[in-house]
Amino acid sequence: MTENYKLVATSAAGIESLVSRELKELGIENKIDDNSRVLFSGNNETIALANLWLRTADRVKIIVGEFEANTFEELFQGVLALNWQDYLPLGYAFPVTKAKSVKSTLHNEPSIQAITKKAIVKKLQTHFHRPDGVPLIENGPVVPIEVSIHKNKVTILIDTSGESLFKRGYRIDKGGAPIKENMAASIIMLTNWRVNMKRPFVDPTCGSGTFPIEAAMIARNIAPGLRRNFICEEWNWFGKDTFNKLRAEAKDKINKDIELDISGFDIDGRMVEIAKENAKVAGVYDDINFKQMRLQDFHTDKEDGVIVSNPPYGERLLKFEDVKVLYKEMGEVFRPLTTWSKYILTSDLMFEEKYGQKATKKRKLYNGTLRVDLYQYFGKRK
Ligand code: SAH
Repeated sequence: MTENYKLVATSAAGIESLVSRELKELGIENKIDDNSRVLFSGNNETIALANLWLRTADRVKIIVGEFEANTFEELFQGVLALNWQDYLPLGYAFPVTKAKSVKSTLHNEPSIQAITKKAIVKKLQTHFHRPDGVPLIENGPVVPIEVSIHKNKVTILIDTSGESLFKRGYRIDKGGAPIKENMAASIIMLTNWRVNMKRPFVDPTCGSGTFPIEAAMIARNIAPGLRRNFICEEWNWFGKDTFNKLRAEAKDKINKDIELDISGFDIDGRMVEIAKENAKVAGVYDDINFKQMRLQDFHTDKEDGVIVSNPPYGERLLKFEDVKVLYKEMGEVFRPLTTWSKYILTSDLMFEEKYGQKATKKRKLYNGTLRVDLYQYFGKRK
């Protein structure tokens, strides 16, 4: 199919504007609707481009149809009316993987899933003249279907990504409390390092290396999806050719020239080894200086750098009292670096008090389900 699909790029709450900006940079017009959905349209190539290049999104989905439903019968009829035969050749699996209902009459999610599935089966049985049921190819292509109901408006979607886009394919090991790759990329895009990526970039609590690796990938213009596959590649109406062409183009677009100054430190030597392994797989090992070091020992004569850190929080890894001491010491080490900008992500609402300085700006984000704040301290302009 080369038709014009309605598409949506999903992301963590609060990240929509970054997804929108990324799409724009890819040349894809888009808008954020009242429901915080990043909407765009396009063909197979648009879908492939978005999957391959979006660093901040979770998934790219096709909107198969939208309609009102206040009863299960209306849901059934609405789903039945859609052109499933265009997306689901005989033999394809089509699990209804997700049903979500907000402020709507229909709210029993398992029933919504079951009714949707039933309606699609009915449609395919009729279309393909298979009154006894539709066959299934063992280990064949899978087309994941999702239903979302908001104020009685039903949206039926097909997920084109498969595994979430945060899975880039470079993470061999992740340690105890990794940040998702797409969240790390989002935070880097919020920093002023983006303006000039030759400046020093330091993550003093780098864990498995997510921030330094994502920073290097952004600076080198390495497509985040270059090392993985997407579920839509398995579909005959989509095909691998579109992706293979875009992958080849992406390889040519890698910026080999830029000089980088990216470092990752961690107190835990095992984490530093994991970070190095991950960086190797990501193709940015030579771009990052990884070292086992306590953040308390960080000194530098460099100016104008950027620190991005996701230190231990109270809920995870460290005890309350230890966190307090760590943040205080962090303040003592970072504050004298007046030309540096610092970005610290933590769920600790008392961070500024412990660190000893009020942030220039704060931004509410979600690290998985945990509400966190990005405390931003802007460096002095020279
Ligand atoms: N963003 C990382 C996770 C960071 S978890 C990722 O994506 O993997 C916090 C990290 O801080 C842990 O790896 C822990 O070993 C490290 N850490 C704790 N205390 C530290 C200290 N005093 N100096 C440096 N690193 C420290």
